[in-house]
Amino acid sequence: MAGCRVCPRSCGVDRATDKRGFCSCGENIRIARAALHFWEEPCISGTNGSGAVFFSGCPLKCVFCQNEKISRGGFGREVTPLELMRIFDSLIEQGAHNINLVTPTHFAPQLKKILKEYKSTVPIVYNTSGYESVETLKSLEGLIDIYLPDLKYYDSTVSEKYSAAPDYFEYASKAVLEMSRQVSNLQTDGNGIAQRGLIIRHLILPGNVSQTLKLLNWISDNLSLQTTVSLMRQYTPYGKAKNIRPIDRPLSVREYKIALKAFTDLGFECGYVQRERCAQEKYIPEFNLKGVL
Ligand code: SF4
Repeated sequence: MAGCRVCPRSCGVDRATDKRGFCSCGENIRIARAALHFWEEPCISGTNGSGAVFFSGCPLKCVFCQNEKISRGGFGREVTPLELMRIFDSLIEQGAHNINLVTPTHFAPQLKKILKEYKSTVPIVYNTSGYESVETLKSLEGLIDIYLPDLKYYDSTVSEKYSAAPDYFEYASKAVLEMSRQVSNLQTDGNGIAQRGLIIRHLILPGNVSQTLKLLNWISDNLSLQTTVSLMRQYTPYGKAKNIRPIDRPLSVREYKIALKAFTDLGFECGYVQRERCAQEKYIPEFNLKGVL
């Protein structure tokens, strides 16, 4: 992978050598956990769980990341393409409704090769921060059934402050449009389990509801009101964020009501909202190589 430009960081390093870019990853796929996960949206987790495969490293590294141990710390174990395919098999045998690739961006070229060979009997979910290059997404066309991107920030000052990525929205907005072009709106089966389509996640940040309002307006103007939006209130101060105001506290009830009102007033027809008790650290998975060894 000479001169890696897989994501918008466009580091240009040769990951086959000792050189590392912003994501801190080499050429071989590295994962920290592969297990059934029950805390995604109901159409993803269903009753059996989502087959979540957590990739080590991250091209974004938000200050409030709840997966800090793997995103910044790089915890995980390298797996070969064949081992990863066997891990997919195991998750499907356990009853997973889908294979949920969590933060896969920096391994997209490797996953492209694997998914071309692996004939999954369940949908493949691409679960991403949204900080993606359109070229990389185009290379995955036909291999991904469900795109599950975050849309985190609208303003460059905010994305620079929390993710060192002033160009976040410039890339994420184009990425979401490309994902929509590839898979269109969410389609579910008779049991309400997602089979194909786009679900946009937005985590409302305390003291930053203006970002939520701008993003909801952008989605309504540039996609459609049938777009499925998951409006998340589960923010919990974590890692560095415990010392950064105003994200050193949970979201207030008033802030969530403002976001919810905007969602309703704009006329969105499909979406998910969360109860207050979702804002708890116990929903953060344990990264202990479960399902990897
Ligand atoms: S995938 Fe990693 S090395 Fe490649 S451009 Fe992105 S951050 Fe840099």
